[in-house]
Amino acid sequence: MKATCWKGPNTVQVEEVPDPKIINARDAIVKITSTAICGSDLHLLQAYVPAMVPGDILGHEFMGEVVEVGQQVNNLKVGDRVVVPFPIACGVCSACQKGMYSVCENSNPNAWMAEKLWGHAGAGVFGYSHLTGGYAGGQAEYARVPFADVGPLKVPDGMTDEQVLFLSDILPTGYMGAEMCDIKPGDVIAVWGCGPVGQFAIASAYLLGAERVIAIDRFPYRLQMAREKAGAETLNYEEVDVIDALKEMTGGRGPDACIDAVGMEAHGHGPMYAFDRAMHAARMETDRPLALREAIKACRNGGTVSVIGAYGGYIDRFPIGSIMNRSLTIKAGQCHVQRYMQPLLEHIQNGDIDPTFIITHTLPLEQAPHGYDIFKHKLDNCEKVVLKA
Ligand SMILES: [Zn+2]
Ligand SMILES: [Zn+2]
Repeated sequence: MKATCWKGPNTVQVEEVPDPKIINARDAIVKITSTAICGSDLHLLQAYVPAMVPGDILGHEFMGEVVEVGQQVNNLKVGDRVVVPFPIACGVCSACQKGMYSVCENSNPNAWMAEKLWGHAGAGVFGYSHLTGGYAGGQAEYARVPFADVGPLKVPDGMTDEQVLFLSDILPTGYMGAEMCDIKPGDVIAVWGCGPVGQFAIASAYLLGAERVIAIDRFPYRLQMAREKAGAETLNYEEVDVIDALKEMTGGRGPDACIDAVGMEAHGHGPMYAFDRAMHAARMETDRPLALREAIKACRNGGTVSVIGAYGGYIDRFPIGSIMNRSLTIKAGQCHVQRYMQPLLEHIQNGDIDPTFIITHTLPLEQAPHGYDIFKHKLDNCEKVVLKA
């Protein structure tokens, strides 16, 4: 089959690789019809997430048709159309029982690697380095889906791939980011980052009852999408001091909750940005936390900071004093996608949200390297690339 392979820092190639096979009784093989490139794939691309091996197949946002099932997969049959959640979860461990699928205790065979870095391991993830299990990803023609009796969601007839594909990650991720804000009527929510997850966090904050959502980015086309499609007020951080502007917009108090939908490769300006760039380049700091620092400082006293942008390891100049002295709550997590797929599918069916608005580019799988290039460099107003296998 054809698959999008990581070949080294900033190099991806579509190559011929062996077809996946059923290994365990709870596996299924899915023939992929649509898959997407995610912002967190860019962290892998540039090797900011450790433990990538040349030849690894990328991609954790995918869907398609079931072509083979293991003996213990009773809920799926050959021919079913499914969308596959990015965390691989067993469904029976202590974490899965609590609905915390992205920290499943049984799906990461390389848990020891993650334990060294993080203390404890999270779940296995498709196409997301050997730190999360070294599973082959879904930017390919086929994928092996472990625990297929737990994760994949059957797609109702009549729905297009584009309507449901983002249930694999970014729509639930944006939604969980808003849900962690514990939104009350009248609340003002600020969202750092107007990439796909940021757009869905904005839309979800309104869905959960926010009165105003203020979105922060530097690309005019992304800010325009946030205004026109997701309904946010916007700030361009290259034009204003974000913390001052947010104070002014909220009676001096600051937003009730702040969502970091940027993560480890934040941009910015001034001495702090130069510091993070240098530390990051020297691998003395694994992540550049500019958006996170700003979200913490901007948040009103007693408010919540919700972290859904991806981080890998360690950061410097973390404003713990601001958190402690102002009674802030920090919530974070890789999304427990399985928990949100069915309710968000219903929101799509009811017309509460149409996730297709973020798609700017649809390319054949063979053009994945070009997709990575335009997404990484924000060329041609690229917001989200969907690949058709
Ligand atoms: Zn993703
Ligand atoms: Zn589990």
